[in-house]
Amino acid sequence: MTYQVIARKWRPQKFEDVVFQDHISKIIRNSIRMGRISHAYLFSGPRGVGKTTMARILAKALNCLSADNPTDNPCDVCENCIEIKQGYSFDVIEIDGASNRGIDNIRDLRENVNLAPVKARYKVYIIDEVHMLTKEAFNALLKTLEEPPKHVVFIFATTEIHRIPETILSRCQKYLFKKIPVKSIANHLEKIIHEEGYKIDKGALYPIARAGEGSMRDSQSLLDQVISFSDGAISEEDALSILGIVTLDSYLKLLTFISNPDPAGLVDEIDRISVLGIDISRYVAGFIDIIRTIRLVNNGIILTEILGFSNDEMQALKKAGSNFTDEELSIIYKLASDLQTSLRFSTNERINLEMALLDMISVKKSPSVASILRKISEARGTGLNSAAGTAGKQTKNTTQVNNEESAIDNIKSLFHGEVID
Ligand SMILES: [Zn+2]
Repeated sequence: MTYQVIARKWRPQKFEDVVFQDHISKIIRNSIRMGRISHAYLFSGPRGVGKTTMARILAKALNCLSADNPTDNPCDVCENCIEIKQGYSFDVIEIDGASNRGIDNIRDLRENVNLAPVKARYKVYIIDEVHMLTKEAFNALLKTLEEPPKHVVFIFATTEIHRIPETILSRCQKYLFKKIPVKSIANHLEKIIHEEGYKIDKGALYPIARAGEGSMRDSQSLLDQVISFSDGAISEEDALSILGIVTLDSYLKLLTFISNPDPAGLVDEIDRISVLGIDISRYVAGFIDIIRTIRLVNNGIILTEILGFSNDEMQALKKAGSNFTDEELSIIYKLASDLQTSLRFSTNERINLEMALLDMISVKKSPSVASILRKISEARGTGLNSAAGTAGKQTKNTTQVNNEESAIDNIKSLFHGEVID
């Protein structure tokens, strides 16, 4: 038996199976039940989130033979359902807007639109990437939309709704598809792996789902790649090295080496990443995400759904975050963003990365103004020397304490040796 790619094999066949787009399924099913069929639907949203899948299910719902009228629960086994599912129905025509964007293509379509369906109730035209049509093609299409034959339904799909003329938009029922959260993707991948009889380390699931960036289709093809290299059991390390995805572990190491200054450790880790052939820009983008997450978590904002980390990962991030103050994270974030910008023009990305990481170490080494002021205020209560001494020894290393003490001395000298009340 030939291997069938996951995205295809697992393409949802029923409304309720389209992951995370329930808000759309619900309205469409409802309108079918009420007999309110529109002549034009517009599905917009990011790539790989279920737009054409939903379009095909809608085409089945309109033409399923298990009921006398369109049904919100297509049977999937009648002749029409099967033909639509397999993609060879005469009455459900899929057009790629990107490669059929000209006026001639739409003229052909307009001639065919008037012919009655062969076997189905409705002739359904699914036009993917409809925003690619030329202006002339849109104008021709508009004429059909203005007076659509009774038996015709258009379903347009697009990732760029703003490129579609208002005259077309105003004639469509519009549905906005959402980017799928990492958690929903990870859960779905887990289900697929389980039912396909593979085993996977839990630690690999979230990174794969994250790498799909909200697209179920992309995440599924990443999973395909991993499966094709495995013999049934997928370890975290295998999965990540096959896909060139950076483990959370690498970022946690960076944070440790920054909070507990270890320049050699940092450079070693960057060396390891470079040897693995990891794209530095993507690596930095991942690091920025991590800084954002721990800063939010440190501020008491834990939106697991949005941040896209598993519970275990979240615990590790919380622990790493506890070594940084909010200001330090703010400065580190700024350094990382500047680094990201500079990488665009860099001829040696690795050097930029190393330099930025060393800057981050100095953020940790040099006391911030706020921490100096805090020290001063502590000193007011307990006597300057003992505060700087005992508080420092408990949590900070000697370099930091020395730096802070000398900074406090500097400030004291500004106030002529007096700490003001
Ligand atoms: Zn059917």
